[in-house]
Amino acid sequence: MVCSQCENAYCMQVCPVDAITRSPEGVVRIDAEQCIGCALCIQYCPVNMVHLDPDTKKAVKCELCQGDPACVAACPTGALVFAASPAKEQNPHD
Ligand code: SF4
Ligand code: SF4
Repeated sequence: MVCSQCENAYCMQVCPVDAITRSPEGVVRIDAEQCIGCALCIQYCPVNMVHLDPDTKKAVKCELCQGDPACVAACPTGALVFAASPAKEQNPHD
């Protein structure tokens, strides 16, 4: 499973300090400065795509590597494809 930058992003909806926002390109991002490490986004992501950084105690998730995802480049069989419009993806649990 990878983060699909869900249109209906539960992680973003539940953050109590609005640390999670969507960029104009559709990428769901976490602002580490605002994150208080409450872990609610971790609980609510249906595909376990948010984690707490053990050093900073802040939430981290896939942010598409600034448009050049390392997972896509590394996949030996081409099973991962970087779609042009991630914001159109639906939360798989909707
Ligand atoms: S897959 Fe999880 S982390 Fe990614 S946008 Fe959806 S709810 Fe957020
Ligand atoms: S861990 Fe951080 S980003 Fe996640 S819900 Fe809590 S404050 Fe928001």
